Amino acid sequence: MTTPKTALVISAHAADFVWRCGGAIALHAEMGYQVTVACLSFGERGESARLWKEGKSLEEVKSIRRAEAEAAADVLGVHHLECFDLGDYPLHLEQDDKLRLVDLIRKVQPAFMLCHSQYDPYNTDHMYTTQIALECRMIAQAWGHNPGEKVLGAPQLYLFEPHQTEQMGWKPDTFLDITPVWDKKRAAMEHMNGQVHLWEYYTRVAQQRANHFKRNSGGMSGGRDCKYAEGFQSVFPRTVDEL
Ligand SMILES: [Zn+2]
Repeated sequence: MTTPKTALVISAHAADFVWRCGGAIALHAEMGYQVTVACLSFGERGESARLWKEGKSLEEVKSIRRAEAEAAADVLGVHHLECFDLGDYPLHLEQDDKLRLVDLIRKVQPAFMLCHSQYDPYNTDHMYTTQIALECRMIAQAWGHNPGEKVLGAPQLYLFEPHQTEQMGWKPDTFLDITPVWDKKRAAMEHMNGQVHLWEYYTRVAQQRANHFKRNSGGMSGGRDCKYAEGFQSVFPRTVDEL
């Protein structure tokens, strides 16, 4: 038996992994990848406006958001959802929290990682999370950190699409056709009852990115049809033997 391939998503808040890379998760899960999602917070303060307007308490908001994230993860075929529960707006990690994330990265040994854009003036939790992801990836690669453990190789870090895309300095270089798993992504989005206004928005985003997929896979000259796609920006170069 061969060891299954793995991937790791690092999500600042409970729902980010759904909007931004739910298709990638579902697609890779169907391909046999074990996808782990690390949610650093539930987005309880900053991304749950509807629940606060309904008069819910902090603990109620957190438990509703956790349940939504678990249901969405289930639909997407997430292998393991780890909720760090570190609080949001602002999200902050102490050294021990970072080392917990390093432990998770080393345990998962992902073939690739997914996280937020590097710049996000609307949501500093998002860009902070990517800074943390890079720092923890680096520590996980260090032979001198917890010697004897299996060190991390060099998984690509893909930055998934932010909200308010044009303001983020985010420039996708990879488009993934998620048409075969679109129903799963849509179903996962519909578990996010606190953010109903985003369901249609992220459906339109997926359709827009499908256009980029078509154009860049050959356009009018043999381009592959695609109805829904997700875009990603890679941080690290690829190593190849052939262009
Ligand atoms: Zn978020």
